[in-house]
Amino acid sequence: MDGLEIIAKRAEENLTVGFERIDRIAYINTERVLAAFKKHRVSEGHFASSTGYGYDDRGREVIDRIYAELFGCEAALVRHNIVNGTHALAIGLYGLLRPGDTLLSVAGKPYDTLEEVIGISGTPGNGSLADFGIGYRQVELKNGKLDFDAIGKRLDGSVKVVFVQRSKGYLDRPTLSVDAIGELVSFVKERSDAYVMVDNCYGEFTETKEPSALGADLVVGSLIKNPGGGMAECGGYLCGTAKAVELCSYRLTTVGVGGEVGATVGQNKNILKGLFYAPHSVKEALKTALFAAKVFEELGFEAEPDSSAVRHDIIQSIRLCDPDLLCAFCRGIQYASPVDSYVTPEPWDMPGYQDKVIMAAGTFTSGSSIELSADGPLRSPYTVFFQGGLTYESGKVGILSAAREVLKAQKKRAE
Ligand SMILES: *Cc1c(COP(=O)(O)O)cnc(C)c1O
Repeated sequence: MDGLEIIAKRAEENLTVGFERIDRIAYINTERVLAAFKKHRVSEGHFASSTGYGYDDRGREVIDRIYAELFGCEAALVRHNIVNGTHALAIGLYGLLRPGDTLLSVAGKPYDTLEEVIGISGTPGNGSLADFGIGYRQVELKNGKLDFDAIGKRLDGSVKVVFVQRSKGYLDRPTLSVDAIGELVSFVKERSDAYVMVDNCYGEFTETKEPSALGADLVVGSLIKNPGGGMAECGGYLCGTAKAVELCSYRLTTVGVGGEVGATVGQNKNILKGLFYAPHSVKEALKTALFAAKVFEELGFEAEPDSSAVRHDIIQSIRLCDPDLLCAFCRGIQYASPVDSYVTPEPWDMPGYQDKVIMAAGTFTSGSSIELSADGPLRSPYTVFFQGGLTYESGKVGILSAAREVLKAQKKRAE
């Protein structure tokens, strides 16, 4: 065994308690998924394809009911033609907010791609919420936690939506637990009629309940992340109260039509099969993240969350503190991918970003980040963010490949 293999073996020996916890959560979530499939009597007929208006698509209807069941809420809108998480979130915001209302974001700035939707960046006149006279306020986290004093002060009668992002995404902040979001729901409901809306991306199935089970009005995410299980080829979901989901269905299609139409063109089976796999796929991604944290800690780097932390999403970041090491890490992930393994990722000027960004993704589904993928902006402290790993084995191969490239780059630097 070489040095890295010894580190890997030791890491796995040290992670048994963490791995067991992840196994338990996956087992409970698998039981929940199977119970929902059973209750709603999933059968082969639900896999049938519909075209045109998609009237009476039983598969589409059963998928909505199963998501509502699993998310502990009244209703759901799960659609392959929601193009990504940003689209699903925008449907939620435009669905709930009206001119004169205020959107209050309580975990700091929402995900980058929502800035133009809200109208805090981008071109006036493009149809942002701001163009429609919808106000925006933001409360920062305090010591990594929701700042209830500050939220209470900003929560006046104009606030229609209290928005919270569960995952840290690509920010330097902790991820919120479902219980922390539950606390926010209680706090808001005691003081106001505002809807509580959650950006649930990357959080699904990392715990045994979702924020909607604790009363969040709308919980939103992407099917090419956790709940699609690596099987859904596209799509997004919105789950929540009957009222909130109905309003969103009017935004997705048209007022009056809502969610009662929409051809599924053969996607029902992938969505259901993906949901069946999701607790397991999330488990594999969580184990890959934990393994990476431990191995890179052993190599002298800082991992966030660290290898002993209880996790609430699948994102792992590692501070590499050097642009060459960041690029080396991404190369290693790419070289160990099942698709495009011969490609070498290079930093590039991505639209909307100040610094160059490097990305590694060799995925079956384009842009899918439940599959092993990594990226990072080329700025200090040169942190790589990565997530996914459809199987722990392939995740481990990828992380060791990344570690080898990093060690090689360090050695080259020392020469
Ligand atoms: C991925 C993600 C989104 C949506 O991103 P898309 O690329 O549009 O799917 C939104 N919020 C968070 C926290 C995310 O991780």
